Amino acid sequence: MKLTSNLQGLLAASFSVLILAFSNLVHAEDYPTKPVTIVVPFSAGGPTDAVARLLSVPMTKFMGQTVIVENTVGAGGTIAANRVAKSPKDGHLVLFHHIGISTAPALYSKLPYDTLNDFEYIGQVVNAPMTLIGRPNLPANNFKELLVYIQKNKDKVTLANAGPGAVSQLCGMLFTSQLGIPLTQIPYKGTGPAITDVLGGQVDLLCDQTTNTLQHIRANKVKLYGTTTLKRLSSLPDVPTLSEQGLKGFQVVAWHGMYVSKGTPAPITEKINAALKFALADADVKARLAELNVEIAPPEDVTPAGLKRQVESEIKKWGPIIKAAGAFID
Ligand code: ASP
Repeated sequence: MKLTSNLQGLLAASFSVLILAFSNLVHAEDYPTKPVTIVVPFSAGGPTDAVARLLSVPMTKFMGQTVIVENTVGAGGTIAANRVAKSPKDGHLVLFHHIGISTAPALYSKLPYDTLNDFEYIGQVVNAPMTLIGRPNLPANNFKELLVYIQKNKDKVTLANAGPGAVSQLCGMLFTSQLGIPLTQIPYKGTGPAITDVLGGQVDLLCDQTTNTLQHIRANKVKLYGTTTLKRLSSLPDVPTLSEQGLKGFQVVAWHGMYVSKGTPAPITEKINAALKFALADADVKARLAELNVEIAPPEDVTPAGLKRQVESEIKKWGPIIKAAGAFID
């Protein structure tokens, strides 16, 4: 008798698991059932925001639902990452983050989410090189002159960044630690407001993505001191890299990826991945990214495995560098 009721209980439990799995699948087939929000961890007008907005147009076409961009700023992108990690597992909130997702575990002693286990990885998106730029009226006209200027004005030179944990902060940290001169860092909520202050002369230096800096470099509105890649950029062939100019091996690339919360059903993550691939193949998107010297990730990386590989290897790469520089946030 007891055995029978146990069996009945077991059958009922398995049945409800099956029903739940089936209803998840039915929902997954219908996805998206409402507008999809891409969560950008930095303010509007910055490079992460710019790429997200560019992708949202073809993604809307593919999804048959509006794809909107929302800026959830602060704490180097960890507030946005936590928001998506804790969101319903239905694919309607998508995180679009950069390299900062893999530097945060070293920068923050305690994160409110688990980087490797709280997300479904959708795929890598783009890789953006960076440039070291200065306010238009900064007396130094090239990198050599900048080094002399910094030596003479150590206490008053300011370096902007898009907040603790931003890739601009990472670049600034590498720059100052290679120089051996700690400069005053001015944090903003994103590159949008940071670059406005560089253009206005309120802050001296900024290391940031070509996505935003190239237009001001081309218009001669900022001073340019070098690029953060090992090879020169095709868009700036006459501009030496920082590595070439004495900062041996200096290399920071802002790579980007897309994520949803862990447990989102595979048909949904596959549809987001297909929408992303569709967007990256769009002629307007390709032309605009090429114009900004932003590279589309190779097809094998625009995959969940490609992104996971990248996050894991970047956590391993930056952890010891950040620890050695003693650059902790909390
Ligand atoms: N480029 C920024 C950073 O330094 C973020 C942004 O505004 O996109 O992380």
